[in-house]
Amino acid sequence: MSTVHDVIIIGSGPAGYTAAIYAARANLKPVVFEGSFEGGGALMNTTEVENYPGFAEGIMGPELMDQMRKQAERFGAELITDDATAVDLTGEVKIVKDSYDKEYHAKTVILAMGSGYRKLGLPDEERLSGRGVSWCATCDGAFFRDKPIAVIGGGDSAVEEATFLSRFGSKVVIVHRRDELRASKIMQDRAMRDPKIEFAWNSVVERINGANSVESITLKDTHTGELRDLDVKGVFIAIGHDPRSALVKDQVHTDAEGYVLVDGRSTATNVPGVFACGDLVDHTYRQAITAAGSGCSAALDAERYLQALE
Ligand code: FAD
Repeated sequence: MSTVHDVIIIGSGPAGYTAAIYAARANLKPVVFEGSFEGGGALMNTTEVENYPGFAEGIMGPELMDQMRKQAERFGAELITDDATAVDLTGEVKIVKDSYDKEYHAKTVILAMGSGYRKLGLPDEERLSGRGVSWCATCDGAFFRDKPIAVIGGGDSAVEEATFLSRFGSKVVIVHRRDELRASKIMQDRAMRDPKIEFAWNSVVERINGANSVESITLKDTHTGELRDLDVKGVFIAIGHDPRSALVKDQVHTDAEGYVLVDGRSTATNVPGVFACGDLVDHTYRQAITAAGSGCSAALDAERYLQALE
């Protein structure tokens, strides 16, 4: 059998790199699968991050992730720019395969694959991401002070985002494909009472317009097909997210939505030696700092598990 590593980490967002920094500093020589496409996770798609502690003037998302990556490397993490394509987590020695079918072995595995925000699938959505298009009101709301904003979606999270954004925006228009919200009654009532919140019923977004940043969106009436432009500077897409748990969901317990389940406040999954952290686990907070915090916990949990094996 090839080398049996102490720790393999799958994922390269704030959770994965933080786990790597802690595991590397504990001399566990972690192997990190960063992903084949782009390491660094969700913050690679954003511009300024203003709420990550330690950066008084803010920091660009890709720069923050580059710093975390270098910090992990500095202490000896081995970074593999490839996807983990298959895993066998059942035995005492876990097996992780790369895209060439090469096997890596380890006593512990930390899952940090994050979750993906659902997208509208429009051509300009990606281009204007971080330039008016956002998936996170907590992260980006403050950039739209006194500006008109649209929130796309009709469930609890859309209405919650809209209510939060009404603190900042000059107005917030909730764009929903139906003529009533799916959100809970209490959330709906709060939104209906908010003088800054308006509704565009029976509407879907046809286009997001703007050269360098969002200037307007084009809405299509789902009944008549009629098109109209809505002048907004911010577009918050709140149509849900999907945890990236497909790789492991037949091996570790997940909830109905696919989030990996962990034991209480720890990062332990139901499989001994397998830990999970970050947005892969977290329905609630979904922030870089909370992901990093749980990455730290996962590395400490893995370290303690390894100590107990000795
Ligand atoms: P992710 O950052 O999603 O990283 C997971 C990584 O693992 C990804 O790169 C993924 O490709 C990789 N991966 C998945 N599967 C595999 C596999 N099989 N093999 C190898 N790699 C794999 N939070 C803030 O606190 N402040 C902000 O200002 C802020 N702005 C945001 C702006 C945008 C546009 C978005 C999308 C999110 C923002 N967030 C912000 C939220 C924050 O980015 C996330 O909460 C955080 O990145 C989650 O970290 P994570 O490590 O759990 O997962």
